[in-house]
Amino acid sequence: MKANPPPPNSDSWQESATELHEQLLASLGEKVVLAPERTRRVFVNRNLRMDQIEVIGFDMDYTLALYNQPRLEALSAACTLDKMIARRGYPESLRQLPYDARLAIRGLVVDRDRGNVLKMDRYGYVGRAYHGIKPLSRPERRKLYREQLLRILPSHYAWIDTLFALPEAVLFAQIVDHLDADATFAALSPEQKSVRYSQLWADIRESIDEAHRDDSIKRVIKSEMASYIVDDPDLPATLHRFRSAGKRLFLLTNSGLDYTQAVMSYLLDKRLPGYSSWRSYFDVIVVDAKKPSFFTEQSPLLALDADGKVRGELAGHEPPSRGRLCQGGNVQALDRLLGLRGDRVLYIGDHIYGDMYRAKRASVWRTAMIIQELEDELLHQRLVEQQLQRLESLERTRHRVEAELRYAQLLGRRLRSLAQADSQIRPPTEENPGTTIAQAQLMIRTHSEAMRAQLRTMDDELDHLEHEIEQAFNPFWGPLLKAAAENSRFGQQVEDFACVYTSRVSNFLQYAPFQHFRSPRDHLPHERVY
Ligand code: IMP
Ligand code: MG
Repeated sequence: MKANPPPPNSDSWQESATELHEQLLASLGEKVVLAPERTRRVFVNRNLRMDQIEVIGFDMDYTLALYNQPRLEALSAACTLDKMIARRGYPESLRQLPYDARLAIRGLVVDRDRGNVLKMDRYGYVGRAYHGIKPLSRPERRKLYREQLLRILPSHYAWIDTLFALPEAVLFAQIVDHLDADATFAALSPEQKSVRYSQLWADIRESIDEAHRDDSIKRVIKSEMASYIVDDPDLPATLHRFRSAGKRLFLLTNSGLDYTQAVMSYLLDKRLPGYSSWRSYFDVIVVDAKKPSFFTEQSPLLALDADGKVRGELAGHEPPSRGRLCQGGNVQALDRLLGLRGDRVLYIGDHIYGDMYRAKRASVWRTAMIIQELEDELLHQRLVEQQLQRLESLERTRHRVEAELRYAQLLGRRLRSLAQADSQIRPPTEENPGTTIAQAQLMIRTHSEAMRAQLRTMDDELDHLEHEIEQAFNPFWGPLLKAAAENSRFGQQVEDFACVYTSRVSNFLQYAPFQHFRSPRDHLPHERVY
């Protein structure tokens, strides 16, 4: 006999309904996973109702096109060194430095004048810092970055905020170290060293910038696309899913037409029937968008023909057409062209400043951030799950014991003044236990000593756990999105400017195109119950 169906709204009812939906969708050739693997989930900072989104915009580099990071970093570093050696007088020997990718993560700050690289938390507290590749001690960090107000001015500091920029920080750290080891450099005054460090930063920045602009990097990528660009077989289906749910799509990239054409045709051409080329996945394609000024300035949105010639300005709403090619422009002009309200746009990008922050500040576009590092970050987190739990419970116990110790100190003080008032009191001995006050004093002292010993043991364990956890992520910098118990500065920016975030665009394929992405309920500290 068939068992009774589970009652509606129970967990098992939900599970069987979910399973049934999955099976039916699969039989219709649709891929939906209702409990996506954690590393491939879409995480939600702010509620996002996909049924309210009419248009979805995509950045290209590091968003639709994910790069093989070690390969691209090695290439960017080599092209940058080529230019530093050929044009800026740096020695050939720099090529011998073994490139160590672990020296940089996103969100770091380069202190140009001091040759330092820093990681900050959400409050600007510098929890880790290196001079070149040598760690700064706590007193050194305190002296430089705590005892005076830290103003992150571009003339003295630089943010590492895209994956393209990681080689800049690595080269800076390694070359600072290399310079320091040179006897002539070591003999310079602190001021002269500072000028050299700052010049080194400027030279790295200009050289990598040139390497991006003069095609040195892109030429190699285009010739070996498969080794530089991660092929994501689910990408075409993801875009198709959005389109068939009635959403219009656009591409908004800072890359030029030639490179966009090469990368997008590698990823999308000849993948799905019904799409004659990569262009037909999009309603509008904007190249050379010049983000972030795309969001802040009023450059004209220019129509291009298929071979990149400018045909004129697009000033208003145009009848819908597939694959319309444009160049430059600004956010208002794009909203006008699409003929819609900005809050119906979801923009998916990877650059915290150029894509997320500026889009949020200058428009009402909703935002999704692609964080390519997230999959590794979650894997590392899983590896240290037990240590993280232990750390949390230990921190709570430590907090409680410390509070108890403070009370014991207060009590000790009160007893001392009482005892002083009574000069008759003698310290208690075994034969003569003394007065009640003296006994209480002895008890408090013994108890306080025990608590202090407990705190020392806990501090040792906490230090050990913190070290183990941080090492599991990155031996130099720890996790990407956290800095000790706080969000890292980068993590905080993700929370502030990305409505949702995920590791790759194709993760959206695991959700229905009208998914209501709900953020977990926000808890202020007073609401937490444990
Ligand atoms: P998007 O992410 O699709 O908007 O494109 C980013 C573009 O910026 C790519 O073409 C990169 O080559 C380019 N890019 C990244 N870093 C630099 C730089 O430092 N200078 C010039 N172009 C850069
Ligand atoms: Mg990008």
